[in-house]
Amino acid sequence: MRGKSRVNGFAVALAALAAGAGCGGLNLLSTEDEVRLGQALAKEVEKKQRLLLDPVVCGYVAEIGARIAQASDRRDVSHQFKVIDNPKQVNAFALPGGWVYVYSGLLLAMENEAELAAVLAHETGHVAAKHSAKHISNQIGMNLALGVALGANPSVLAELGSQLVTGAGIARMTQQDEFEADRLGMAYMKRAGYSPAAMAELLRKLNALRNSHRDALGQLFATHPLTADRLARANAVALSLGIEGLVAPGVYNQRLATLKARHPNPLGKKQPPSGRGPAEAAPSSSVAAGAETKKAPETKQDPPMICRNLTKGNVVVSRLAIATSWDDRRRGLLGRTSLEPGEGMLLDPCRSVHTIGMKFPIDIVFLDRDMKVVGLKAEVKPGSLNNTCLKARSTLELPAGTAAARRLELGDALQVLRADKAEEKGQ
Ligand SMILES: [Zn+2]
Repeated sequence: MRGKSRVNGFAVALAALAAGAGCGGLNLLSTEDEVRLGQALAKEVEKKQRLLLDPVVCGYVAEIGARIAQASDRRDVSHQFKVIDNPKQVNAFALPGGWVYVYSGLLLAMENEAELAAVLAHETGHVAAKHSAKHISNQIGMNLALGVALGANPSVLAELGSQLVTGAGIARMTQQDEFEADRLGMAYMKRAGYSPAAMAELLRKLNALRNSHRDALGQLFATHPLTADRLARANAVALSLGIEGLVAPGVYNQRLATLKARHPNPLGKKQPPSGRGPAEAAPSSSVAAGAETKKAPETKQDPPMICRNLTKGNVVVSRLAIATSWDDRRRGLLGRTSLEPGEGMLLDPCRSVHTIGMKFPIDIVFLDRDMKVVGLKAEVKPGSLNNTCLKARSTLELPAGTAAARRLELGDALQVLRADKAEEKGQ
């Protein structure tokens, strides 16, 4: 690719300039110069990338962005949120001075408004912490950065623009930058009314796509490093802020309906797995089905379902909720304040659950394809990160103590059926 070889050649020259400038890592650009630099780079980016023109999608992104910017720590710049029309690229980036770009591929990979807020909040965090301005100052030196801001160095400007759109050089954030942008972003989400857990969930979900969709996500991971440490920290921050807040899957899918309809399967044949575990099977309602999702998917409770233990001959759950869509499974019992005796939730498919953000302990029962109990964890307290059973096809969540009370054991065969059918049979 023409752009790429130019990047490599020029990067050497830039590195030499930086060494000569002896910049010690401080961003000393005034806000005014930072905004000028951002504006120049924004023009360059928009020369190289086609922007999405769909007014509904762009208006929505700008609206949620404005909500996040309002809640941010940085009020001396005016934020702008734009969409780059590239469904094959799952990424976003921020320029100095408040320009935030999100690729349409990332919009297509997300499933609710809180995830969109998470992406925009993370990038707004980068703006607030002036990460991009610092990287540019470090790489080319203060004087040259000022020159670029003032339009005096068009070739350097073009090179920086190339790095931004190819995910090279200045586009690459450090591990520390990422921690900071996540932490700041989650605080903004909370202030703006969104559940900060959506940030941790989105990171988990993107991480699960890492190996199966390298082309689409390679740039994301190169520019925003994602490690187990980052995931754990994001979870901890979400917990400390409190995970209550807006998730809004219905409105998201509604506003993105035209975009999702135009790109029914942007990442190719493989469906995105759930954030609950990389090995999990594809969910029944995924990105591909998003366009048809006009309202928030509800857990299926009508007709009422029960779960029986055929081996022990008793009823394990007399009011069973079944979550089969990606969003329902991901939400699971989060947000519920209790699970009454007799209640339960079946997540299908699902072989890995966490209890971060839950308000009560639960029993976790893993079931194979034939509804046989292949794993059992009793009295799992809130905050447990990883409960996985690789042999499982689905997971049943029960009020703590149910397994013991109902004498549930490994090897027991369960059955899910409609309550009225059970009554007909005299159960
Ligand atoms: Zn980042």
